[in-house]
Amino acid sequence: MDLPVDEWKSYILQKWSLLPKSIQVTISTAKTLNDLFLHSSPLLQPEDEMFLKRLSGGYLVGKDPDASLFYREKGNKKFQEKDYMGATVLYSKGVSHSGPSSTDMSLCYANRSAALFHLGQYETCLKDIVRAQTHGYPERLQPKLLLRKAECLVTLGRPQEASQTISDLESNFAAKATLSASQFQILQRTLCRVKVKVQEKENLPEIFPEALTKTFEGVDLREENEQIPSASSSVSLHIDPLKGRYLVATKDILPGELLVKEDAFVSVLNPGEMPPRRHGLESKWDTQVTNGDLHCHRCLRRTLAPVPCDGCSYAKYCSQACMQQAWDRYHSVECSLGALLLTLGVFCHVALRSALLARFEDVDKVIKKLCGEMSNQGICLPESRDPAQILKYDLRGEGEKKDKAVETPIPGCDINGKYERNYNAVFHLLPHTENHSPEHKFLCALSVSALCRQLEAAGLQAFTTDLKPTKLKAAETPVLCAELNVWGVAMLRHMLQLQCNAQAITTIQQTGSKENLITDTQQVRLATALFPVVSLLNHSCSPNTSVSFFGTIATVRASQLIRRGQEIFHCYVLAKHGLSAGPHESRMGVAERRQKLRSQYFFDCNCPPCDRERQRPSAGPGREAFRCHRCRALLQGDDVLSCGGPACTESLGRGLLVSRLQDLQRQVGVAQKRLRNGRLELAIQLLLECQSDAESFLSADHSVVGEIEDTLAQAYAALGDWEKSATHLQESLRVVEVHHGPSSVEMGHELFKLAQVFFNGCAIPEALNTIQKAEKVLLVHYGPWNDEIRELQKMKSCLLDLLPIPGGPKE
Ligand SMILES: [Zn+2]
Ligand SMILES: [Zn+2]
Ligand SMILES: [Zn+2]
Ligand SMILES: [Zn+2]
Repeated sequence: MDLPVDEWKSYILQKWSLLPKSIQVTISTAKTLNDLFLHSSPLLQPEDEMFLKRLSGGYLVGKDPDASLFYREKGNKKFQEKDYMGATVLYSKGVSHSGPSSTDMSLCYANRSAALFHLGQYETCLKDIVRAQTHGYPERLQPKLLLRKAECLVTLGRPQEASQTISDLESNFAAKATLSASQFQILQRTLCRVKVKVQEKENLPEIFPEALTKTFEGVDLREENEQIPSASSSVSLHIDPLKGRYLVATKDILPGELLVKEDAFVSVLNPGEMPPRRHGLESKWDTQVTNGDLHCHRCLRRTLAPVPCDGCSYAKYCSQACMQQAWDRYHSVECSLGALLLTLGVFCHVALRSALLARFEDVDKVIKKLCGEMSNQGICLPESRDPAQILKYDLRGEGEKKDKAVETPIPGCDINGKYERNYNAVFHLLPHTENHSPEHKFLCALSVSALCRQLEAAGLQAFTTDLKPTKLKAAETPVLCAELNVWGVAMLRHMLQLQCNAQAITTIQQTGSKENLITDTQQVRLATALFPVVSLLNHSCSPNTSVSFFGTIATVRASQLIRRGQEIFHCYVLAKHGLSAGPHESRMGVAERRQKLRSQYFFDCNCPPCDRERQRPSAGPGREAFRCHRCRALLQGDDVLSCGGPACTESLGRGLLVSRLQDLQRQVGVAQKRLRNGRLELAIQLLLECQSDAESFLSADHSVVGEIEDTLAQAYAALGDWEKSATHLQESLRVVEVHHGPSSVEMGHELFKLAQVFFNGCAIPEALNTIQKAEKVLLVHYGPWNDEIRELQKMKSCLLDLLPIPGGPKE
C-alpha cells in the first residue's frame, strides 16, 4: 500500500536487472539525489508508461452513472433488511459516482437521508435532504422528502420550522394532489406530533461530532515552546553527531503531560484494500467498506454522510468546506491522477502532496533551496551560513558523524534557530539515501518520473498555477520542464524520507457484533502523514511517551515520570505501524523488532530493554514459556527443552510444542468466529476445551492463556452472565499486566472492558473502583477527550446517582 503495486515493482526490478552494468553502477554510486534522478528518469520509456497506464486502468476512480444505480439498488436492499449503516455507506458510494446535479445524485442523497433518519442522525439527515433538493430531486417525490424533513425537525425540537414545512407541503399537496393516501396519513400523524411537541417544548440533544471536536480543541499545551511551535516548553531541541536531533525534558514531567500537539504537515488517507477491477467478473463494483467511505479525505474525521468531489469518485469529504480547502491546496492537481496514485502507492502520493503544499510557502525560497541541492554536492543549504561548514555537517549527518560541531545550526531550523512546522522542516528529514538499495532507489526514481510525465502531459502546471503569478511570470514553459525536474528530485527525496519518517495515523475501530455489549477495539491504520515535530523524537523500545491521534492532529503525552535532562522517546515499531492494539496481540519479539529497526530505519537499537534482552541467556524461560505436562514446572532450552522440576527428567523437542501451540491458536480462532456469529454456547464449549489444553503445556502467563480468558469473558458477557465474564476478564487482566505493565495502554483498554462488565452487572463498588483505575491509565495515554474516557465518566455519574447520598443515614 505504501509502495507501488507489485506488478509495477517487479516490472521495474526486471528492467533494472536488464540494464547494462555501467548504467547500474552510475545509478548505484550517484552522489546526490539530483544525480540519481537525472540518470534514472530518461530510462523511463513510452512502453513503460503504457504498462503503468494499463495497471492504473484497473482502478475505478471516475464517475460512472451505472455504478451509481448499482450502489443505490444495493443500498435499498440493505435498507429493506434494516441494516441502515450498511445502506448509508452504499448510498455514499452511489453519491460519489453520480455526476453533479444529476437525478442519480439527488436520489442517492434522498435515500441516504432516510437511512440517516433511522440511525437517529437527524441533523445530518436534514443536510442530506437539502442536498437532494439542490441536486434536482424529482418534483413528484418531493412530498416524501418534506415529510421526512418535518419529522426530523419535530424530533429535534424545532416545531416552528416543522410547522412551516408541513404547511408548505399542504399547499403543495393542495396544488398538485400528489400525495398518496398513505402519505396523507403520515402527514396527519406528523402534524399531530408537531402540535404535541409545541406544547411540550421538548428538546432532544443530538450527540454530534462537533461536541467532541470542541472538547479536543480545548486541550492545549500548557505553555508553548518558543523554539518549537506545537511542542510544550517542557522540552528542548538538541543535536548530537551520533544521535542527530532529539528532544530533552527541561523540567520534571509528570505522566499524562501533553508534550506535543501537532497538525500534520501533510497526510494522505490510506485507501485500504482496493483491488483493481477485473473485467468479466459478475460485478465490476465492490461493496466493501473502506477507510475512504467513512473518513474525510482531507481532515480524516469520521463522517457518515460524505460529499464527493465533483470530478472523481474516490475523494469524499465531511463537508463542502473541507472539499474546497482540499481542492485549493492539492486536489485540483490530484483529481485526475487518482488511478495513477493508487498504482504508485501512498508514499508517492504523500511525496506529491508535500511538493504541492510547499507552493504555499515562499516559493522562491523553496525553489532556490531545491536548485541549491541540484547544483551542490551537499544535501541542502540552510540560509546565511558558511557553505563549507554546512557541507561538513551534511556529510556527517548522512554519513559517519564523527566530530562534534556545536556551532552548526540545527537542520530544519530557520536563521533564528526556530524549528517551524513547515516545508523547510519537512525537507530536512533525513532520506538516508546511502542506506536504500539501488533497486529501491531506481523504483522510487522511475515512479516519480512517471508522475512528473503525467503532470506534464496533463498540462497541469502543477507547481506554478494560481500561485504568486507575479513572481513566476518569468518561469514560462521551457523553465517549467527544468522546474519539474527540481520537483521530481524533491518528490524523490520525500519518497525516500517516508520509509523512516512516515507516521501512521491510526484510529480505534470497534470490532465484534452489535449485540456484544462489551466493546472490543482494534487499532487500524487510517492515513500516512509527516509530522516534523513528532519526527524529532528518537526511538526506544520502551518509550516514555504515548502517541495518539485526532483527525490529522497527533498528540504526544508522557506515559511515565520523565526527569529533567532525560531524553524523550517514542517507539517507532509500535506507533508507526498501527499494529493491532488487542491486549494479547503479542508485540513483536526482540529479534523481529531489531530486524525491523535495522531494515526499515537503518539502525541497531541499543536502548536499555534491548540490551537487557540481548544479555539474557536465550534458554531462560520467558513469559511465553512452555511447561512440563507431568510436573507442571517450566521447560528450558533451545531446540530441546528439558524440565526444570526437581525430580523430573522430561524433555521435548521445541518443534512439537510449537505445532501444538499453533493448533491451539487455530482452535481459539474458530471459537472467536463462533462468538462473532452469535453461536455463544458452542464458542464457550470450545474455549473451555482450549483453556484446559493450554493449562497442560503453557505457562500461566502465556499470552494465549490471556487471549482465551478474554474471549471467554466476551462470550459470557454476550450471554448476560456478568459474574462469570468478570472472573475471566480479571484473569486476562493479570496476563496483560505481566506482559505490558500496570500502566500500559493495553491495561487501560482491558480495564475499560472490566468496568463495562461490572457496570452492566450492577456491581457498583467494583465498577467504580475499576472505572477509576481505567480512567487513570487511559488519561495518561490519551488525554481527556478520548471516547473511552468519556464513556467511563458517563458510567461513573450514572453509578453515583444510584449510590446513597454521603452523609445520609448510612454514615
Ligand atoms: Zn473534513
Ligand atoms: Zn476529485
Ligand atoms: Zn530497543
Ligand atoms: Zn517435569
